[in-house]
Amino acid sequence: MSQSETEGLVSKKKPASYVIKCKCMRCGLHFAGYSWDWDWRPACCPECGQQEGAFVIWREPSEQQIFEHVPGRAELTDMGLPA
Ligand SMILES: [Zn+2]
Repeated sequence: MSQSETEGLVSKKKPASYVIKCKCMRCGLHFAGYSWDWDWRPACCPECGQQEGAFVIWREPSEQQIFEHVPGRAELTDMGLPA
């Protein structure tokens, strides 16, 4: 198999995850979600709580698994437990 054929196979590989980048149209908060599903969308804004679907949404395929994004190499600074 030639290199160009191999590159074609790699480019058609399903992404490991998607970074779903969002902007709330009510309060302007920018935030991101990570999903295995291309069509994931936020149910509500984490800042103002609007649930009307008023978001601008960008979807970015990623070769990284979700755990490589979150937490990735970030420092653990807080952890709350459910009541
Ligand atoms: Zn909002």
